[in-house]
Amino acid sequence: MTRRVSILGATGSIGCSTIDLIARDPAAYDVVALTGGRNIARLAEQARALGAEIAVTSDEALLPDLRAALDGTGIACAAGPEAIVEAARRPADWVMSAIVGAAGLPPGLAALEEGATLALANKESLVTAGPLILETARSHGARILPVDSEHSAVFQALVGEEISAVERVIITASGGAFRDWPLEKLSEASLSEASSHPNWDMGQRITIDSASMFNKALELIETREFFGVEPSQIEVIVHPQSLIHALVGFNDGGLMAHVGPADMRHAIGYALNWPARKELPVERLDLARIGQLDFRAPEDARYPALRLAREVMEARGMAGAVFNAAKESALDGFIAGRIGFMDMAGVVQDVLAQLSGDTGLMSAAFSLDNVRAADHMARVRAEENMAGDNAPQRSDTWT
Ligand code: NDP
Ligand code: MG
Repeated sequence: MTRRVSILGATGSIGCSTIDLIARDPAAYDVVALTGGRNIARLAEQARALGAEIAVTSDEALLPDLRAALDGTGIACAAGPEAIVEAARRPADWVMSAIVGAAGLPPGLAALEEGATLALANKESLVTAGPLILETARSHGARILPVDSEHSAVFQALVGEEISAVERVIITASGGAFRDWPLEKLSEASLSEASSHPNWDMGQRITIDSASMFNKALELIETREFFGVEPSQIEVIVHPQSLIHALVGFNDGGLMAHVGPADMRHAIGYALNWPARKELPVERLDLARIGQLDFRAPEDARYPALRLAREVMEARGMAGAVFNAAKESALDGFIAGRIGFMDMAGVVQDVLAQLSGDTGLMSAAFSLDNVRAADHMARVRAEENMAGDNAPQRSDTWT
């Protein structure tokens, strides 16, 4: 029996790895919807190769290009955020949520409302709206399977275990591009230096977030939301080899570690084949050749994002949406050369501090509208803060 699958964010790093797995067994799948952003050539090529029902770009201005690229194929085309949500609603058994950023939340919710199994790479969904997305899954009898490698690892370590026996969850971090840089050099880190990851081949945004550990900060919150453990039970450890993805510590003192190559096709394939395990085209580790695995504590001064994530976990409510949106804006600012690498954490901290007093906003009930409002306010504030940073100093104006 074939399974109906859709891939949101098909043209990205996770999307392409998902397609790599699906394309190895074409008779097993009917591809329903593929969505992308600006990479129309890739989206059209994927839709043709997989015989998708519909291809959707988030960018309405690019619809004529998509139409032209799919002319004569019979594949439907659409554009815009609403069209992506509609595509996610098409009947499917399994939907990959791999759009980057807060834009991934509405289509993921739509897929859950239709009862699809949601393979969740888009960690921002859990960070911004954890209770909403879990409740939507519950009330529609839909399942969420984690795709982030650490969360897939925890999920696998928990098979057959009681969550009440869990003492702690340890997620690993490579330490990113600047793990071994002198601290005082970090403020000068360039965009190209921040965009290269020591172990993983990923999209540019998550690669920069790995260097700053904003990615791990999002994953702390994601762990708390997905597995329902207390913030005090979650630890981050720097593990430069990126071979252990997470460990679960139980009340008898034992630790279960998940070990595998740094290849997202493992976690994607686990979610695709769950509850079965099937052969996957990932490297088999040669432990004797690897020789050793190293661990060290993350330094607070190098990775201020981790402290901010702990504050967000305490505050709850809309703090996750504010944190994520401020982080996305600060990242845009860094990519555009408007702020330095270490300024990103400062922008996020200031936005959290400024909005923390707005209890109406921060304590609002979890709904898509309230999450959007918090996201919007955080972006406005982050923008103001960055404009302030760039504004000419008074003394400059007067000289
Ligand atoms: P990429 O940047 O490689 O891809 C992002 C995808 O989203 C692309 O298809 C892109 O389209 C599309 N997209 C971008 N902006 C929008 C928008 N506003 N609306 C709709 N679609 C949009 O990201 P990754 O694949 O690296 O990451 C995807 C998600 O998975 C993120 O949430 C990330 O945190 C998470 N993740 C990624 C991992 C990895 O190894 N890459 C590991 C664990 C989690 P286009 O390229 O055509 O413009
Ligand atoms: Mg991860």
